[in-house]
Amino acid sequence: MKISEWRSEESCYEATAKMLKRIEKSELNAYITVCKDDALKLAEKYEKRELKGKLAGIPVAVKDNITTKNIRTTCASKMLLNYLPVFDAHVVERLKQEGAIIIGKTNMDEFSMGTTTETSYFGVVKNPYDLSRVAGGSSGGSAAAVAADETVLALGTDTGGSIRCPASFCGIYGLKPTYGLVSRYGLIPYANSLEQIGPMASCIEDLALLLEVIAGKDERDSTNVGKSFKFQRSFKDFKVGVLKDMGASEEVMEKFNEVVDKLRKNFYVEEVSLQSLKFALASYYIIAMSEASSNLARYDGIRYGYTEELSGSWTEFFSKIRARGFGEEVKRRILLGSFALSAGYYGKYYLKALKVRKLITEDFKKAFGKFDVLISPTMPSLPFKIGELKDPLTMYMADVNTVPVNLAGLPALSMPIGFVKGLPVGLQVIGNYFEENTILNFAIEVEKTLDSSER
Ligand code: GLN
Repeated sequence: MKISEWRSEESCYEATAKMLKRIEKSELNAYITVCKDDALKLAEKYEKRELKGKLAGIPVAVKDNITTKNIRTTCASKMLLNYLPVFDAHVVERLKQEGAIIIGKTNMDEFSMGTTTETSYFGVVKNPYDLSRVAGGSSGGSAAAVAADETVLALGTDTGGSIRCPASFCGIYGLKPTYGLVSRYGLIPYANSLEQIGPMASCIEDLALLLEVIAGKDERDSTNVGKSFKFQRSFKDFKVGVLKDMGASEEVMEKFNEVVDKLRKNFYVEEVSLQSLKFALASYYIIAMSEASSNLARYDGIRYGYTEELSGSWTEFFSKIRARGFGEEVKRRILLGSFALSAGYYGKYYLKALKVRKLITEDFKKAFGKFDVLISPTMPSLPFKIGELKDPLTMYMADVNTVPVNLAGLPALSMPIGFVKGLPVGLQVIGNYFEENTILNFAIEVEKTLDSSER
């Protein structure tokens, strides 16, 4: 549902109540926590004209790794099952300042580690287009909620594709902003040098508005660059690079190529290959797991979350809590990350991965000397069946088209371009640093080429 449609409802209170009912009856499992009473109170306030701002009276769902004061924030982990934060993340402060109604906290892969939400302690999020399939991950709850009118807007986070993958699988828009544009203050870290909070919505204008609200200066995040974002409509003679290194299954490629052919009629389109991209996935997983092993060291059973009665030595207690509090995928990553960072292997793995990261960044920089946008299919396949990805490596491979962007810190959008076998297909549009406006304006041009049924 678009903001304009929501605004055309006669009563914000009634519409919110209706949305809450829909969530209650839903089979999707998009939410971990629903803020029913608070949402209704805010809707009532809006009706009394006491709620002001750019998002006044608009429901926004927040991924459950983003800290919300006095609202349980679990990261979909047993480890944080009853964690009640005492402060709001920067982006949540901004939502509140602009009058948004926080409708609930959305389901996700545990600590954002996954591509299907199957690693969630709360169970998988189902795809609104086919309940036997996944909604994608890790921000699967946010994407499914937007797609199924269980919210109007949502926030997700993207470390290696977690906004774009579920956006693609659920047929909505999701943007991973340039690293440093949106403050990570209050985002519970998985791999902090890669991740950004970003907007998810059902049209480009709404996506842009939510980005305007969350982007901007925040001194509490030392990697925040202090830039703000304002959506500006403009037309450019876009130079489009089609990334040859990012492929997909035949059926997805067919849909993608249809769009490319249409774009050729209006724009300069050329295929381009970035040599370093073939190492991106390996580099990403080394870096992400290394950072994860360090970031998740804080869960010791004493300071946060899951705990038991103190017993045994420090090591015994620490190990017991972590063995019981974390799920399998999280443990795997902590182990592999610790290994990659260990004295004997640091140079062989972690340092090498950083070098590859640099090469990828340089390759992208070169490409943006020539092109305004680079495009690819967002995901290499249609949404997976629940349980289809049996081993972790197959799951990691699904991120092949999305992770390079995070390694380079670039902004990228996933937008719907139609359906194959009744399932949504997403187009990835990558822009140069802080060129979110270029991406969004290009996306508007892409939309013009699509058939109305596909839109
Ligand atoms: N699927 C990727 C991973 O598991 C990306 C996750 C994310 O972006 N949070 O690391």
